[in-house]
Amino acid sequence: MLKRLFLAGVDTFRLNFSHGTHDDHAKVHRAIRALETELGRPIGILQDLQGPKIRVGTIRDGKITVAAGETIRFVPSGTDGDRNAIPLPHPEIFAAIMPGDHLMIDDGRVRVAVTRLGDDFIEAKVIFGGAISNRKGVNLPGTVLDLSPLTAKDRADLAFGLDLGVDWVALSFVQKPADLLEARGLIGDRAALMAKIEKPSALERIDDIIRLSDAVMVARGDLGVEIPHEDVPGRQKELVRACRLAVKPVIVATQMLDSMVAAPTPTRAEASDVATAIYDGADAVMLSAESASGSYPVEAVEMMDRIIRSTEHHKLYRSIIDASAPDEEKTAPHAVAAAAAGLADVIQSAAIVAFTSSGTTAARIARKRPAVPILAITANEAVSRRLCLLWGAHSVLSEDIHTYEEMVDHACAIGQTEEFARPDDLMVVVAGIPFAQAGTTNNLRVVHIPRD
Ligand code: PGA
Ligand code: MN
Repeated sequence: MLKRLFLAGVDTFRLNFSHGTHDDHAKVHRAIRALETELGRPIGILQDLQGPKIRVGTIRDGKITVAAGETIRFVPSGTDGDRNAIPLPHPEIFAAIMPGDHLMIDDGRVRVAVTRLGDDFIEAKVIFGGAISNRKGVNLPGTVLDLSPLTAKDRADLAFGLDLGVDWVALSFVQKPADLLEARGLIGDRAALMAKIEKPSALERIDDIIRLSDAVMVARGDLGVEIPHEDVPGRQKELVRACRLAVKPVIVATQMLDSMVAAPTPTRAEASDVATAIYDGADAVMLSAESASGSYPVEAVEMMDRIIRSTEHHKLYRSIIDASAPDEEKTAPHAVAAAAAGLADVIQSAAIVAFTSSGTTAARIARKRPAVPILAITANEAVSRRLCLLWGAHSVLSEDIHTYEEMVDHACAIGQTEEFARPDDLMVVVAGIPFAQAGTTNNLRVVHIPRD
């Protein structure tokens, strides 16, 4: 199945640590790495940590039904509570909550507003009634909780993931820039760090959060509980644009083809949602239950792939993407990347070949969203796997380059073996010289592939 999914278009696989055992994840990880070897293609693996997901405790009879207008109470401990003592075993909430704050239970199906606080209770008035059952999730959109984004479970999962050798670690429910620093302290350079944006407090500090992350996920599932539905599409556009400006890959996630969990085709609205993310300029679009537990995983990936291709070939695509281009950055590396994109377009080159040791040369070119594919070549295996997430990039792992002649020879050879170019084609080659020194993007060369 993993092979079929990869061949259908997957670039990066997510291991969702909200579910499954370490053994399950290790098995999938092993299978993906074996597939990499079999196919000779880098594949990204993203470890998604559950984060501080808040849940109600256990309730008498497993479930109580509350009605709009009714007053209920939450307590910090205990089990078998009733509507006057619903256990909410998270002391941080009792420390931070204020009258007027809202609690959303079960993906926002039940909403209550805090009316009064006692030493050991929270009194609240029900706004939307419904069922509150054992262990249901709770979201507190307006409250910044004094919570580390890494729970004890996350820390154990993280150590396990880093030992496996995941390429990305995604942090759930990031609230503030310091959350990224804390995670980075644990991860070091063993994996790249992704911030999942699903809290309003993260939106308030978004520029710093993006700066401290290696990539961002627009996590619309929880975000759509924490902020009004109608605000999510605009936020998606803002986030994608801000990430493009900051040269960080951005994923649009959740419910993209949701009805394909149970049906072989999506709704028209879902097809349109995937296309919108592409028009917005996202680097990647993500499937969740569609591929993790649905009945049509391969069909969902194929459908997404077809929608992406069709959108990218639409006659309005170019003008829409160009309309959201960020301003030029007045540094040599950015100017060289911009020149490469412009040059490739003018001379109708078959591809832009980026020799990149840290990945940034390729990312700067991708920021321009050029009209031709980016062939991102690196000698660093970890970088080659991370580049799978980058907009428009085809990642290739190669041996180290030492000389300019080697660079040109490699570009011509790889351009042809990866089927991006043929004899007599032109390619634009970008590199930082000296080679293997991260952070330089200072060289541009037009290469003509010789006729045998
Ligand atoms: P999740 O994250 O699937 O781990 O909840 C994505 C989201 O909230 O959209
Ligand atoms: Mn989430």
